[in-house]
Amino acid sequence: AALDRIAKVDDAVHAFLHVDAEGALAAARAVDVRRAAGERLGPLAGVPLALKDVFTARGMPTTCGSRILEGWRPPYDATVVSRLRAADVVILGKVNMDEFAMGSSTENSAYGPTRNPWDLTRIPGGSSGGSAAAVAAFEAPLSIGTDTGGSIRQPAAVCGLVGVKPTYGGVSRYGLVAFSSSLDQAGPITRTVADAALLHAAIAGHDPMDSTSVELPVPPVVEAAGRRDIRGMRVGVVRELAGEGYDPGVQAAFDAAVAELAGLGAEVVEVSCPHFTYAMAAYYLIAPSECSSNLARFDAMRFGLRAGDDGRAGAEEVMSRTRDVGFGAEVKRRVMLGTYALSSGYYDAYYGQAQKVRTLISRDFAAAYEQADVLVSPTTPTPAFPIGDKVDDPVAMYLSDLCTIPSNLAGGPAMSLPSGLVDGLPVGIQIMAPAFADDRLYLVGGALEA
Ligand code: GLN
Repeated sequence: AALDRIAKVDDAVHAFLHVDAEGALAAARAVDVRRAAGERLGPLAGVPLALKDVFTARGMPTTCGSRILEGWRPPYDATVVSRLRAADVVILGKVNMDEFAMGSSTENSAYGPTRNPWDLTRIPGGSSGGSAAAVAAFEAPLSIGTDTGGSIRQPAAVCGLVGVKPTYGGVSRYGLVAFSSSLDQAGPITRTVADAALLHAAIAGHDPMDSTSVELPVPPVVEAAGRRDIRGMRVGVVRELAGEGYDPGVQAAFDAAVAELAGLGAEVVEVSCPHFTYAMAAYYLIAPSECSSNLARFDAMRFGLRAGDDGRAGAEEVMSRTRDVGFGAEVKRRVMLGTYALSSGYYDAYYGQAQKVRTLISRDFAAAYEQADVLVSPTTPTPAFPIGDKVDDPVAMYLSDLCTIPSNLAGGPAMSLPSGLVDGLPVGIQIMAPAFADDRLYLVGGALEA
């Protein structure tokens, strides 16, 4: 049914970059055979999933939305992928994304934009726009995205879905092509909080292949999603994540969701996180710096594309020609920014300074969690904007992640779930929790959804 649906709607939506019909059907049939034999199956047995094209998976291409990886077929599974397979999930194929996960609209994909199923003239968010669009268009009930500054939560919000960025270190990054290693985290995009919890539990947990993966038990997210009792919980509304730049409709939907939380017995308090105002500026130094280092591996020798190798050109010339045609404008912009910020003489003024701001943001969170068990804000300042609206204005595009970036900088988990419609377009409320308390997101999310 999922493959039929893809055949029917994906020409218009363009969520998929690669559909592995044969592999998906074989995996689904294998589940049927084992079920008939009375074998014990995984918790998501036979459920189809759309995988963001930033993960390696045997038997499928991995492009990261970039020309530079054209033709690359990785010989191994990311840990997220091997865990999905162990849970008996059926992987339908790879879905579209902003190139190397840099963007908020999926317009930075080298393979053309994905469209928002709620309104095909609008963006589905990004960078995990293909993931969100696939779920919103009923092409797949589950998807995995990645979130460096908001790339799971923002597309989930503007496509009317649930999206979760787990605690940094909660889900292995092995086989996830790195954008900004200290910020990247994989997580679920689904229709319901319970689906997200099942998927979260399937992919999380320690992995010796990722040195930043933590050796702690997975928080009890599935149990929390079903509890539905938040009486006495303290919910902190972040004062700084409101006001100028926020669509009044988004604010109204958020206020209504907060009133609902109070109605469910939560105690609503206002908290202040004064350094959140500097989160965007710090992020746009840290993320490009780390990307300028991570993307150095795309050298025309090891992976994918090699351009201008006429037999006479030297290695440096081939590298430069390949990067010239292989990387898109946003990737080049960030590599240049990052290289500059890390260069001698500027390092302390930019990268070093941004790291200090990061520490101050973590302290703001710590202080806020003395007053509240979870924090809340709108997920995005606006609903989905029209395709093409912000392509020429990177700073306007960057503002999409105003509310989501602080959690990446501090490492704590965060969820977006639908808070209502603004002129027929979905918007979301963001719930944030302290590191390793991911279950609180599901507790509050499950109660609010019910
Ligand atoms: N939109 C942000 C950026 O462009 C976040 C992207 C992400 O989370 N991968 O960097």
